[in-house]
Amino acid sequence: MTSARITGNAKLAGVIGWPITHSLSPAIHNYWLANYNIDGLYAPLNVHPDQLADVIRALPKMGFAGVNLTLPHKELVLPMLASIDATASAIGAVNTIIIRDGACHGTNTDAYGFIENIRPHLTGKNKIGKNKAVLLGAGGAAKAVAYALAQEGFAEIIICNRSLAKAEHLASHYPTAKAASWQSRATHLEGADLLINATSLGLAAKEPLHIDLTALPKTALVTDIVYTPLITPLLQAAIAHGNPTIDGLGMLLHQATPAFHAWFGHPPTITAALRETISGAQEN
Ligand code: NDP
Repeated sequence: MTSARITGNAKLAGVIGWPITHSLSPAIHNYWLANYNIDGLYAPLNVHPDQLADVIRALPKMGFAGVNLTLPHKELVLPMLASIDATASAIGAVNTIIIRDGACHGTNTDAYGFIENIRPHLTGKNKIGKNKAVLLGAGGAAKAVAYALAQEGFAEIIICNRSLAKAEHLASHYPTAKAASWQSRATHLEGADLLINATSLGLAAKEPLHIDLTALPKTALVTDIVYTPLITPLLQAAIAHGNPTIDGLGMLLHQATPAFHAWFGHPPTITAALRETISGAQEN
């Protein structure tokens, strides 16, 4: 879907990645542009890491309102920006650039996207506790999740990662976080309120995530940031174990909302129709 009107004054944004073919962000932003009848366009931008600095420099000159960044650019871009806000600086990665007065300013909306996706379980009738979270992974996405959990006030955050050194480095940023080995992951589930997969395990055509859920309380919320497929092997196992679950597509939709608002001047809404359109787009 593209915007209903694209004139010479159209506001421009896009997503820079390498490769970019599988990004769902163009489908999300162009859906909102069409829905709100905004004169704008959001493009997939396939940029090799060697060309990133030139492209970032050119964006203000080309009239862009901003861009998103995805793999492998989120950390590479840091020294190329005029400023980085406190959230992006704490996470150590930028996923959104907002262009103001001809300069590129970096922020990170992944932590916001993660926490807003699970927010109904933090505040609703069946609200979970914030005593203990078990986070699987210590890569780029896990950094945003760990920041969000610390900001949200989880009393204990156990970070299990295949490369223990990366888990230790991430845990060292937060007083309530502790690193643990990948092999020990199932042993930390006792008393957990929240279990998050932030590894790439479970992605379609990749290995599933194996974890014995026996010790996990049935009230614990289980969420996967992988959204292809929507119901990952971890979520299937959690449903079978009787736990509430949330898929990762909501995180992707929520992380897009602050950027859209900043670039195009309209606060977008996440609706069932949008979810349906985007789930359909990822099947094609
Ligand atoms: P990274 O490459 O930075 O990190 C990958 C993580 O997966 C690392 O923790 C890595 O461990 C772990 N991992 C990979 N293979 C294995 C394995 N065989 N066994 C155990 N652990 C493994 O990727 P990102 O953090 O950027 O992305 C991770 C996933 O999150 C992707 O699937 C991505 O699509 C998804 N994502 C979803 C978002 C959303 O909005 N829902 C937003 C961003 C990402 P190690 O450190 O040891 O290599």
